[in-house]
Amino acid sequence: MDKSIENQLRLCPTLPTISSVALRIIEIGRHPDIDLQEVASLLSNDPALASKTLRMANSPLYTRGRQARNLHQAVTVLGLNATVSAALSFSLSAWLRDARTPGIDLDRYWRRALLSALAARLLGEHQHVQGPEELFLAGLLQDLGMIALDAAMPETYGQLKHIAHNHDTLAAYERELVGTDHCEAGAWLMREWGLPDYLVLATHASDDLAQADIPDDLERFAGCVAVSGRIAEIYLAEDTQTATAAAAQSARTCLNMGPDDLGAVLGRMAEALPEVESLFDMTVLTAPQAMGLTDQAHELLATRNLQLLHSATELQQREQEFRQQANRLEYIARQDALTGISNRRHFDEAFKDHFERARVEAYPLSLAYLDLDHFKAINDRHGHPCGDNILSAIAKSIHDQLRQDDLFARYGGEEFVLLLPGIDKASAHKILLRICKGVARLQHRLDDGEVLTVTLSAGIATFPGNDIDTPDQLMRAADQSLYKAKQNGRNRVVCADSAAESDASHTQGLHGRPASPTR
Ligand code: GH3
Ligand code: MG
Ligand code: MG
Repeated sequence: MDKSIENQLRLCPTLPTISSVALRIIEIGRHPDIDLQEVASLLSNDPALASKTLRMANSPLYTRGRQARNLHQAVTVLGLNATVSAALSFSLSAWLRDARTPGIDLDRYWRRALLSALAARLLGEHQHVQGPEELFLAGLLQDLGMIALDAAMPETYGQLKHIAHNHDTLAAYERELVGTDHCEAGAWLMREWGLPDYLVLATHASDDLAQADIPDDLERFAGCVAVSGRIAEIYLAEDTQTATAAAAQSARTCLNMGPDDLGAVLGRMAEALPEVESLFDMTVLTAPQAMGLTDQAHELLATRNLQLLHSATELQQREQEFRQQANRLEYIARQDALTGISNRRHFDEAFKDHFERARVEAYPLSLAYLDLDHFKAINDRHGHPCGDNILSAIAKSIHDQLRQDDLFARYGGEEFVLLLPGIDKASAHKILLRICKGVARLQHRLDDGEVLTVTLSAGIATFPGNDIDTPDQLMRAADQSLYKAKQNGRNRVVCADSAAESDASHTQGLHGRPASPTR
């Protein structure tokens, strides 16, 4: 994973660190020679965890037979590995519940996590893969990376909200938008936390087992985790039929399981789900829903030819859907979320090309930075949401005056950038002056009836010009012009490399404080 993304994750303040009890549990998991009494006493430090473990030891899902009356007995009944994994499941799930996830539908995330956890466990049971609790934990945590990416880059990741329910294509979009995917990010976070390798690797492979580099002895374990997510989708997706077909396909390729075997696992899912829901205090599906969906899936598995389910038309439809979503994603990846105009990323990508074209085809290229004046005071007096509205209104009014060829982008905060291909210095100056005056004339009416006006300062530079031969020089010159515009009193336009400076203040902005250089 890219180092800058690692740093973003590492430094993210809203991604909480896990509790000290969970960390101790991870530690114990690495040294399995510890005695059971010690595990029991560690668990007893966390009453919620202790009571869950006790309930679990007595749950028919986990153990048959002897009842555990205290923690020590519970730990003995479950065994060390199972206790450690189960305690981690509870403790990390408590952490996940507290996570703030502006861009993720947390309710759906949780339902998927619990369904996958149970499915991974039952697949393991059916396929005689060792470590049911480890499988449960791996199933539960496989999408942890979604939470991490959302916390670290909420604005960008939030743009995926409307497609995050389609898990099939999620990772591809994530890579396009943020440069990594949730499998990679989750695996990275788990490694940072010191979680064992089997969890890290299974998470990495959870969406695409074939592409991941999994050691032979973990292949079936990772296969159960990969298929578990597909099984969860049978219960969550709008289209049960397609989800069942996808799960059947995945069960076949990852675990060499036929439809009948998958059907048997689904039957167990419906039976065991209430138990898991009760342990995790959450309703994933109502009992009739679970039964209904299971019956539907059974029917499909029993009666339909899976080839038919994957018929050509269906694939075509999905491909078309994918293409449409890819186009839409490409568009939103270039768009600023608040104002709807281009974002800095798009500008940065396009700027050098524009410059190159201007050089080759020998036409002028003007670049302007536009920065709102004393905008901080607006936020301070009227609140950030009011500032947001004004920012959007100004962006829209400028955007509406531009030609198709112009590139107008939000450069960051209350600063914009405008690229004018084919426009020389004199024309750029006129255009910016018109924009400045237009912005100053806008009346922003607040809820209480008060009317605000805001001014802006602009700095222009034009290629070719004195000492302006490269994209960097053009940007630097425009930036210096803006600095001068601010220094000289704001609400004005300054052109690089000329005496031209125009005061746009035929209407004085509300915040006519004395100029103080801020750039
Ligand atoms: P100057 O005339 O020197 O540019 O003064 P200024 O107050 O506009 O500049 P400064 O750089 O001191 O502050 C920029 C302000 O813009 C502070 C910040 O709260 C506000 N701002 C930046 N981005 C946003 C945003 O997305 N929404 C809102 N409401 N305010 C923003
Ligand atoms: Mg400003
Ligand atoms: Mg600024």
